[in-house]
Amino acid sequence: MKFGTKAIHAGVEPDPSTGAIMTPIFQTTTYAQASPGNNKGFEYSRTKNPTREALQKSFAALENAKYGLAFASGMAATDAVARLLKPGDEVVSTNDLYGGSYRLFTKIFAHYGIKFHFVDMTSIDEVKKVINDQTKLIWAETPTNPMMKVVDIVALAKVAKSSNAILAVDNTFATPYLQNPLDLGADLVMHSVTKYLAGHSDVVMGALMTSNDELNEQLAFIQNAAGAIAGPQDCFLVLRGIKTLHLRMQRHCENGAAVAKYLADHPKVSDVFWPGFEGTPQYDIASKQMRGFGGMISFILKEDHIEGAYQVLEKLNIFALAESLGGVESLCGHPATMTHASIPREERLKTGLKDSLIRLSVGIEDIDDLIADLEQAIG
Ligand SMILES: *Cc1c(COP(=O)(O)O)cnc(C)c1O
Repeated sequence: MKFGTKAIHAGVEPDPSTGAIMTPIFQTTTYAQASPGNNKGFEYSRTKNPTREALQKSFAALENAKYGLAFASGMAATDAVARLLKPGDEVVSTNDLYGGSYRLFTKIFAHYGIKFHFVDMTSIDEVKKVINDQTKLIWAETPTNPMMKVVDIVALAKVAKSSNAILAVDNTFATPYLQNPLDLGADLVMHSVTKYLAGHSDVVMGALMTSNDELNEQLAFIQNAAGAIAGPQDCFLVLRGIKTLHLRMQRHCENGAAVAKYLADHPKVSDVFWPGFEGTPQYDIASKQMRGFGGMISFILKEDHIEGAYQVLEKLNIFALAESLGGVESLCGHPATMTHASIPREERLKTGLKDSLIRLSVGIEDIDDLIADLEQAIG
């Protein structure tokens, strides 16, 4: 099945009791049993819920995976992966990481005796330098947030295999429409479903996808044992959102390209970060592993100071100033004081995250209105 057909149909069967074409919201905690243990496969909704089951099948299909698991948030999904680790284990991750993942690793799991290395993953040599016998997990993000660096998943997968580590890829920015890490050799994919998969800025949810039986068994055990599950109402909304994922992504990519080119030509803008600019090393890797370049763009102003960025952000009208991304509406943000405030300034600067950096989540509105909005705000 091709992507658009999977987005609409995968996991969704007419309801056996009524023929309802949409999976019902099974708002129930428990299920009647004829006699103890004699049930229809459902006992308690933390363990299994039919609306969540349908969504998990859809998740699996989108990433060409055998299994999908739905969690209460992207962070809950990441937390479940970190729970696979034991004291003494080591993790290699990118130094240009989603702030919440950095906080979870350094402020929670580091206290449990797990060691984290944050390196520039665009250089495979940097990754190899910190790998040792204790390395159990490589946690990658590509494109990265907010610097839009592209990491070579095939090369990372080789390093992971040869060191017996699990390669997990946070595929939130690319979405399964543009990139499928499992097909490139990764063991596990994580999504903040909150973003493009749900797509309408109305649900917080996370997902894990894998084709590895043992890994799925361990993660499903953690999902049930720790209990950070996605609720049935939210699962319904995400099933609905996914039906237009391919259409939304096409427009996000078109609008993203137009905004990136507009900014690159703007006299007050010094740098634009977007993986689709030809002639860059990032572009070469991105064209190998992605089917498009998405709608996430960051840029810095020639006059690099927080006040300049604030002026632009306050003047933008259609681009709402807000955290998050991936919804149908355009958003703008200031990572240094918003999403990435938990990363120390020296660490931020090392990765190129300057004070005036503005991040855009380009939505699917009419492109002429988006460009006009940027024009009046940047001046
Ligand atoms: C938002 C986000 C997360 C966290 O997901 P939540 O659903 O907010 O918990 C993780 N990684 C990336 C890249 C994100 O953008």
